[in-house]
Amino acid sequence: MSLALTELFDSNRRWAADTQTRDPGFFTRLLNQQTPQLLWIGCADSRVPANEILGLLPGDVFVHRNVANVVVHSDLNALSVMQYAVDQLGVGHIIVVGHHGCGGVAAALHNRRVGIADNWLRHVQDVRGKHRDFIAALPDDEVRLRALCELNVLEQALNVCGTTVVQDAWARGHPVVVHGWVYGLHNGLLEDLQVTVQGPADVEPAYARAVGALQARHVPNAARAAAAAVSAAESA
Ligand code: ZN
Repeated sequence: MSLALTELFDSNRRWAADTQTRDPGFFTRLLNQQTPQLLWIGCADSRVPANEILGLLPGDVFVHRNVANVVVHSDLNALSVMQYAVDQLGVGHIIVVGHHGCGGVAAALHNRRVGIADNWLRHVQDVRGKHRDFIAALPDDEVRLRALCELNVLEQALNVCGTTVVQDAWARGHPVVVHGWVYGLHNGLLEDLQVTVQGPADVEPAYARAVGALQARHVPNAARAAAAAVSAAESA
């Protein structure tokens, strides 16, 4: 698709006019305040835009995006977004949103060199390493990629829980709930990976439950595929 940049201004003017027609005073109301209820930490992939997917308007969701939705404890960019969202805006939900078919996760899975991002994706390779045996036991690369995209969400949600921002918020009784979701490029739907954490005591149990459920979702497929291969061989 080739896109003339001047068309973007035309498109923007139409959008602003339509929004103002649909909801007179919309922009004036947003001038002095934003009151988003949630922080979305997602992938930079152009197919995974937070507001559109959630059907939300400007002002509704605070957003941080990077390659493969990674949360690193020393990343001042992500930490600053998180701290502002929680401490200044009072956001009550932090949601790590991965997506299936993630190019960054695929590059990490297959040791594919892409450039500077290799160093960033090293964090996703650490996720792969942590779950090495499980991933190796999966039947094919498609299933392995699906599993690693989901595991990466769980690990990054765990990292969110470990930040000083979230730990401090919990310590002073500020209710922050951390979630992990995954988005399907093929159907436009979000799925809750059930790693929902409301406080320090929840972190390990929620993570363990979510990993167990994830493995159960993928391993039966592997077991079924193996059983089908055996029965096909026997009937041949
Ligand atoms: Zn991605």
